Amino acid sequence: MLNNATNRSVAVQRAAQPPLSAPGITKQEFIERYCKRNNVTPEGLSRHRVVLPCACGDDSCEGWALVRNDTQSILEHENGPDGA
Ligand SMILES: [Zn+2]
Repeated sequence: MLNNATNRSVAVQRAAQPPLSAPGITKQEFIERYCKRNNVTPEGLSRHRVVLPCACGDDSCEGWALVRNDTQSILEHENGPDGA
């Protein structure tokens, strides 16, 4: 009973603070939206791309980024293009 109450308050806290510019969609929602927009399937998408959390702060950013599925591209996404 005590555990249930604790879990609930943690979930409420998380939901109460979505970033203003990002609607806070899930990874799955991001993939579905992207596929709809670009007329591709999730299977086709995951063949060449990976979805990674994104904190670029861009107005159109949904909190996720689609990155080419190779080590170089993933490192650039995580560190920025300048390696900074
Ligand atoms: Zn972004």
